Amino acid sequence: MANYADRVIDQVIARDPNQVEFIQAVKEVLETLSPVLKADKKYEENSILERIVEPERVIMFRVPWVDDSGKVKVNRAFRIQFNSAIGPYKGGLRFHPSVNLSILKFLAFEQVFKNSLTTLPMGGGKGGSDFDPRGKTDGEVMRFCQSFMSELSRHIGSNTDVPAGDIGVGAREIGYLFGQYKKLRKEFTGVLTGKSLNWGGSLIRPEATGYGCVYFVEEMLKHNSDSLEGKVVTISGSGNVAQFACEKVNDLGGKVVSFSDSDGTIFDPEGIDDEKLAYVMDLKNIQRGRIRNYVEKYQGATFVKGNPWSIDCDIALPCATQNEISSSDAKNLIKNNCLAVSEGANMPTTPNAVECFQEANVLYGPGKAANAGGVAVSGLEMSQNSIRTNWTRGEVDSKLKSIMQSIHEQCITTAEHYDCHGDYVTGANIAGFTKVADSMIDQGVV
Ligand code: NDP
Repeated sequence: MANYADRVIDQVIARDPNQVEFIQAVKEVLETLSPVLKADKKYEENSILERIVEPERVIMFRVPWVDDSGKVKVNRAFRIQFNSAIGPYKGGLRFHPSVNLSILKFLAFEQVFKNSLTTLPMGGGKGGSDFDPRGKTDGEVMRFCQSFMSELSRHIGSNTDVPAGDIGVGAREIGYLFGQYKKLRKEFTGVLTGKSLNWGGSLIRPEATGYGCVYFVEEMLKHNSDSLEGKVVTISGSGNVAQFACEKVNDLGGKVVSFSDSDGTIFDPEGIDDEKLAYVMDLKNIQRGRIRNYVEKYQGATFVKGNPWSIDCDIALPCATQNEISSSDAKNLIKNNCLAVSEGANMPTTPNAVECFQEANVLYGPGKAANAGGVAVSGLEMSQNSIRTNWTRGEVDSKLKSIMQSIHEQCITTAEHYDCHGDYVTGANIAGFTKVADSMIDQGVV
């Protein structure tokens, strides 16, 4: 008879055969849990896996809004409240045309284990809509956000569910969402994170995911008696996570040579220094332009279709989206002597590509560990909101750094404990799982 994890994976596939991203994420976690499931039968006796793969609640709603020409548009939106065993649901909102139930369930499922690893009291959730903010005016984005929040406000709250940003949801969208929540609920409360500094935001929150991803790779290198100094780094994406990953690599003496977006990749062999990064931040965040514009400004750079994974590098930081490193991309990176991969994005590496990295002994930091810095500082934003204070930039950054070090340590010691030396995937999954699973058992069948 198949083992416990395999039986639950089969049930998930039978129940939702079309949810490919969700099935991929469930397999990735459950397939690494065998050592802990074998060592302690209480998880099977309490049907923990059957319960942990099923969201506590899924809310799906329509978002009608009016565009600038007066036409009524309708989008579909979701909030997945996946698991609240260790705290209120916490996880971002994604606005992107590809958004569907499978993608949001995968992201919410990952979030459960990621949040557990941060050491902070946060459950897992995720939400979003198939709305595409690209090419929309500020007024259209505002009307969409207001309509979205008119429904979502019934389901969230500072002690129940605290959303944040993700792809397509940055400072502008969080502002419109917060304004509408405040109007409807008549309360000024920490119901969203990623807020602006003037109205409850935390210093370092915008930087946190990118910085954290680089702190994580720094820990992996340090653990192997190496450092970022002088390393050539490829980064995909050019949004929030990519930009601040670049800033931290520059700080720590590395050289970033690429950015990308869904149109293609720019390669700058001389390196994207702080001045060039300031141009990219203005281009993407203020002008809302495309990354190919970079080569008009910096003549030594080239633009190519596709992703950055055929460029020579020591370190790769995928910071765009899911499944953006295929096995052939992984083979290219390995051939080019890439030492380490740290995932700023969620599940950017396909399962076959993960196997390639592990077989080639590339240091591989999975997203639920490497990009947990964002939600960790969101947790710190919630704490500051609760006690009505603001910590300094230095205070938040040092808390972020020590959380990333603690996540690295948990991965290493858990993998060691289960005889999987250096396997960050197994370490992260088991460490994240046990805290949530034990809490579920403590709280009974709910
Ligand atoms: P942004 O919207 O700021 O940037 C996303 C970037 O990725 C853009 O450059 C975008 O290009 C590119 N991108 C998106 N989809 C695709 C695609 N299908 N193919 C190629 N490029 C694509 O999002 P974030 O930087 O916030 O998020 C990036 C990743 O990091 C996501 O996986 C997110 O889940 C993850 N993450 C984010 C956290 C955060 O705090 N923001 C926290 C933890 C993880 P284009 O403009 O062409 O769409």
